[in-house]
Amino acid sequence: MNMPQPDPPVIRFMADAMLGRLARWLRILGYDTAYEKVITDEALIEQTVRENRWLLTRDRRLALRKLVRSRHTLIVSDDVEGQLHQLHRELKIDLDLTHQRAYRCACCNVVLTSIRHADAAPIVPPFVAQQYEEFLQCPRCRRVFWPGTHWQNLDRRLTAIRERSLDQQP
Ligand SMILES: [Zn+2]
Repeated sequence: MNMPQPDPPVIRFMADAMLGRLARWLRILGYDTAYEKVITDEALIEQTVRENRWLLTRDRRLALRKLVRSRHTLIVSDDVEGQLHQLHRELKIDLDLTHQRAYRCACCNVVLTSIRHADAAPIVPPFVAQQYEEFLQCPRCRRVFWPGTHWQNLDRRLTAIRERSLDQQP
């Protein structure tokens, strides 16, 4: 059953310094998400505007700043599941990992590229090379990813968040 899928996500995010975990999740979900662990409010706002991003912040004062007033989401939850749930509800972000899209490196925010099994085999653990055919690599940090237990675990958690959203529909 192959339903037509929407285009890859076009919304680009800027996450404030308190939202590092959320930024990693959004990247795994394929969303271009800029994030700096240490950044001034001015630099954060400047980059948001210059790169036409949507600001995600936990800082009420920052959300009131004129330049980002009409382009931000004030994140209310402390935990990453609650934060993703809010973005799913308010911005309709796609929490389904199985949809075809460009995955991004959780660390570098760079689109992963597929590499041949022969190139991945020397880099990954032997049992992984035996078990999996498809591999993706980050062109920047060179980390190699495969659809193993890590992604299955992420997918389970995302499914739980999606179902939570359905429960709350009128
Ligand atoms: Zn990377």
